[in-house]
Amino acid sequence: MNIDIATLFPEMLENYLSESVVGRARAKNIFTVKCHNIRDYTEDKHRRVDDTPYSERQGMLMQCQPIYNCYKAVTDGKPKPHVIYMSPQGKTLTQKRAKELSRLDSIFILCGHYEGVDDRIIDKIVDEEISIGDYVLTGGELPALVLVDCVVRMLEGTLSQTDCYEDESHYSGFLEYPQYTRPEVWDGRQVPTVLLSGNHAKIAEWRREQAVISTYRKRPELLEKCPLSEKDLAIIHKFADNEEK
Ligand code: SAM
Repeated sequence: MNIDIATLFPEMLENYLSESVVGRARAKNIFTVKCHNIRDYTEDKHRRVDDTPYSERQGMLMQCQPIYNCYKAVTDGKPKPHVIYMSPQGKTLTQKRAKELSRLDSIFILCGHYEGVDDRIIDKIVDEEISIGDYVLTGGELPALVLVDCVVRMLEGTLSQTDCYEDESHYSGFLEYPQYTRPEVWDGRQVPTVLLSGNHAKIAEWRREQAVISTYRKRPELLEKCPLSEKDLAIIHKFADNEEK
């Protein structure tokens, strides 16, 4: 997968994209990512890329032309990428959407800043607006990193085993079961004994049961979209009954 990110602050992104899981996947060429400074594409002699909004609103708005010039220069002679504008007005990013995006060959991500971008550039080049939540940040750089991280984790070869992410929260609709590491007893709290049993079937059963309970306790609304078996429903009823006592 090829990712291009258009931003006014490429240096904000570079560090993150060079470290940890994402940085290792990048070094292994599992994906390529390039950050492009929109300011390099301005036609203004003072290198301006923004101006005041016509709505008489305070603040500055990023102009169309530098963004368009950047997009044209980056995509020239290549197949058209899927163009995403990181925006608080977009649909909220989900694990499901990130998985779908991970199947694409190339993505071009536009990061807004200041008051955002002139709407006409969205009309002209953007295929999809994606939000990372119902709140407003200063710029699209953090949202772009969130998106890239989430997508790259699901590219083949990034994590050592696919079930590293398939078992994690949200992939199947449930939250992940609780996890424990050494020591077996910490602060008087014992790791659930089933996890020490070496009985793989029992451990798998425990994991499913705990994933269902965790989802019910922490994010019950997620269960509305989960495929619940008779057994899952029985687990929930038993847990709810115990809670009431
Ligand atoms: N005036 C815009 C509005 O009310 O919709 C918000 C502009 S915001 C201050 C500047 C930029 O940050 C946006 O253009 C967008 O790229 C990015 N941004 C802010 N919050 C975001 C969010 N929740 N998800 C994705 N991008 C966001």
